[in-house]
Amino acid sequence: MGADNSKIKALAKKTFDALSTEFPDSTCSLDYDCPHNLAIRGILSAQCTDKRVNITAADLFARYPDMKSIANEDPAVIAGIIKPCGLTASKTRSVIAFAKKMTEEWNGSVPNDVDLLMEVPGIGRKIANLIVGEIYGTPAVVVDTHCKRVMKRIGITESTDPAKVEKDIMKVFPEEQWIKIGHLSVDLGRKYCTAKSPDCSECPLVSFCKRRI
Ligand code: SF4
Repeated sequence: MGADNSKIKALAKKTFDALSTEFPDSTCSLDYDCPHNLAIRGILSAQCTDKRVNITAADLFARYPDMKSIANEDPAVIAGIIKPCGLTASKTRSVIAFAKKMTEEWNGSVPNDVDLLMEVPGIGRKIANLIVGEIYGTPAVVVDTHCKRVMKRIGITESTDPAKVEKDIMKVFPEEQWIKIGHLSVDLGRKYCTAKSPDCSECPLVSFCKRRI
């Protein structure tokens, strides 16, 4: 087990180094300019592209610049605005629940606390980790669909369960790399390691990726 873990740690180091070189500007692909703005975008991002989320959220915030105005709005009006992101009913409930938490319980501040954030329906571990990592720099791993897929292919994990993948990443990447490895995984998954037809011949990990050796 110890020997296996040190092998996977070595694999993690090679992975991080190669991806950092390939994607030196890797960062969160959701636009945001304040904590609650990122949280709302995170809620809207379920099963939706970041590009669509960024457009729709900009529209929402142009009409409602603060959380109080969202909390007090008719849900049907909010639903009409965020409809392009899909899953309209559940996302409307989440957006309004988040806005109410902000104004009624959190004194207008987004908490640096994964468990508190997960009290909002629609905010799961992935989004809560994204928020605390991006806003507060709290070490946290965001396991999205790209991260889950590429980590299994590379050989960092054998699981497809996001909670287990998160733990496996935390075991072999140093804490200071947890936020960045999430972003790098997304870049890898979009550019080379796509779900249907990975471009292994061009991928910077091809010489050591488990799927390719
Ligand atoms: S070598 Fe292929 S399977 Fe491995 S990470 Fe790169 S694209 Fe994905």
